[in-house]
Amino acid sequence: NVTKETHSFQTEVKQLLHLMIHSLYSNKEIFLRELISNASDAVDKLRFEALANDALYEDDSDLRVRITFDKDAKTITIDDNGIGMTHDDVINNLGTIAKSGTAEFLSKLSGDQKKDAHLIGQFGVGFYSSFIVADKVTVVTRKAGQPADQAVIWESAGDGEFSVEATEKTSRGTSITLHLKNDQEEFADGWRLRNLVRKYSDHISVSVELPKEHYGEEEEKPEAPEFEKINTATALWTRSKADIPDEEYQEFYKHISHDFADAASWSHNKVEGKLDYTSLLYVPSKAPFDLWNRDVARGLKLYVQRVFIMDDAEQFLPLYLRFIKGVVDSNDLSLNVSREILQKDQAVDSMKSALTKRVLDMLEKMAKKEPEKYQQFWDEFGQVLKEGPAEDFANKEKIASLFRFVSTQSDSDKATVGLKDYVERMPAEQDKIYYIVADNLAAAKASPHLEIFRKKNIEVLLLTDRIDEWMTGHLSEFDGKKLADITKGDLDLGAIESEDDKKAQKEAEEKLEPLLKRVKDLMQSEVQDVRLTHRLTESPACLAVGEHDMGEQMRKIMEAAGQ
Ligand code: ADP
Ligand code: MG
Repeated sequence: NVTKETHSFQTEVKQLLHLMIHSLYSNKEIFLRELISNASDAVDKLRFEALANDALYEDDSDLRVRITFDKDAKTITIDDNGIGMTHDDVINNLGTIAKSGTAEFLSKLSGDQKKDAHLIGQFGVGFYSSFIVADKVTVVTRKAGQPADQAVIWESAGDGEFSVEATEKTSRGTSITLHLKNDQEEFADGWRLRNLVRKYSDHISVSVELPKEHYGEEEEKPEAPEFEKINTATALWTRSKADIPDEEYQEFYKHISHDFADAASWSHNKVEGKLDYTSLLYVPSKAPFDLWNRDVARGLKLYVQRVFIMDDAEQFLPLYLRFIKGVVDSNDLSLNVSREILQKDQAVDSMKSALTKRVLDMLEKMAKKEPEKYQQFWDEFGQVLKEGPAEDFANKEKIASLFRFVSTQSDSDKATVGLKDYVERMPAEQDKIYYIVADNLAAAKASPHLEIFRKKNIEVLLLTDRIDEWMTGHLSEFDGKKLADITKGDLDLGAIESEDDKKAQKEAEEKLEPLLKRVKDLMQSEVQDVRLTHRLTESPACLAVGEHDMGEQMRKIMEAAGQ
C-alpha cells in the first residue's frame, strides 16, 4: 500500500524559496556546503545515539559522507549513513521553517537582491539552498534502527509543493539527489566538486568522499566505484592553532552557527590541568534576527572526548553572552552527560567562569586593537551586553569597560564613548560619572538638567537604550567613581563648584525663601518638595525625581507592563 502524499510548503518556505533563488544566485555554490553540513550533523547525531544503543550501527560503523555525480543525467547525490529521518521528520524538517519570527523576518526583506542576500544569509538557508541550482530535489532516507521498508522518498521542484512516498532503503541514512538546472551542469564534475569540498568543508570532522578518478589508460574502471577522502576529516578544534588558516576557522563557524556571514572574531584555547577541555568561541559579525526572542535556543555545541553530545548547551555561558557561538570539547565530563547533569556539575561551573572570561578578554582585545570592528560589534550586540552587570557581579567592572555611550562631548550620535575615556577626561576635581536617561537622544540633549553641566563644561553620558535605566541600577560605580543620574535627588557638584558659586547660592536661597514657601503651598498635592536649584541656567524650573525614586524611563517601562 504505497501511497504518495502531496503536501504544500509552509507559506514562509514558499516565500523564502522564491527570494533565495533570486538573491543568492551569485553565491550558488554554497548549496554543497549546506548539504554536507547537514550530513555531518546527521552523522554526529547517529554517533551520539549509538552511545546508548550500539545496534543502531547495523554493521556499518564506518561513518562517512559520499558525493557522486552523473554528468549525463546532470545530477549530484550527497549520501550519508547518519541518523536518517522518519516520515514525520521529513515532513517537519523539509517542509517548514522551525525558526520562530520567520514571517516577521521575511516581511523585512526589501526586494533589493544585494541587501536581501545579506539578510537571508544571516537567517541561514540550509537545505532549501539546493533549489538555487536544482529544479528538482529527491531525498531518500531511512532512520537508524527502522526496518528497510520504513524509508521515505521526498521530492519537490521547489514550486510550492512536495511529495512524500514510502519506499525501501537497505542502507541507513539520507541520500539527496539534485537534478541540476540546465545552466548548472558545471557542478556535476569531479574536479569542481573536489575543489568545493576542500574550500568549504575541509573542517568537517567526518570524512567526505568522492569516487576515485582513474587517469591511467591501462587502469580498468572497477565495477563499483572506489571512494577517496577529500577533506582533512579531523575535528578542527583539535588541530593546533598555527595550522589552521583563517578561512577554515570561518568555514567552521558557518557550519556550527548556521550563519552565512563571516565571524568577527574567535578565540581557540586548549586548557589542561585541573580541568581538561578545548574551546573555540566565536563573536558573530551580525546579530541574528531572533536575538531578542527569549525562546530561541542558545549555547555552545558540546563534545565529550570529540564525540558530539548536544547542540545549544546553555550552561557554559551567561545569558548576556548568548550571542556567542562555538564548541566546547571536554575530557572531564562523562559521555552520557545530560542537560540535567550539566546544571549541577561543578566542572561545568568552573568552565563557565573561564569561558566567560575568555569572551570578555576577546572583546577587550578587539576594542583595543580593532576599534572599528569593536564599534560594529557594539552596534550589533551592545544592548545584550548591558544585561551583564545585573547578571554577572564578579565581572561587572570588566563588562562596564566594554560599554560605549553617546555623551555631551560626542560629535556624532554614535555610541563611541567608553567609561574609561570618560574617566580619563574628567577634571581632577570631578568625582562622579554623570549620566542622564531619556527616551531618545533629542530628548536627552534638550533636558534642562544639562544646563549647568554645559555651563561648567562637564561631560554627561546620554543613555537612551530601553535597558539603560535597569543597567545603571546594577552598575553603581566604575573605576571607583560613582555613577550619578543628573535628574535624581540633590545635585551635589562637590568640588566642581567654586567657593564663589556656593556663596552666591546661599545668598539666593535666603532671598528666595518666602517665594519658595508660596510655591510649595500652591503645589502641595502635586509635588513632594519645592527646592531652589542651581542646575538651571536658562530654564526657570524643572521636575526632579527623588534620589531613590524610580527613574523616568523605568517608570515608563513599569507602566507599559501594567504595573
Ligand atoms: P539546519 O541545519 O539549520 O537545522 P536545514 O534547513 O539545513 O536547517 O535542515 C533542516 C533539518 O532537516 C535539519 O535540522 C535536520 O533535522 C534535517 N536534515 C537535513 N538534512 C539531513 C540529513 N542529511 N540527515 C538527517 N536529517 C537531515
Ligand atoms: Mg543545515
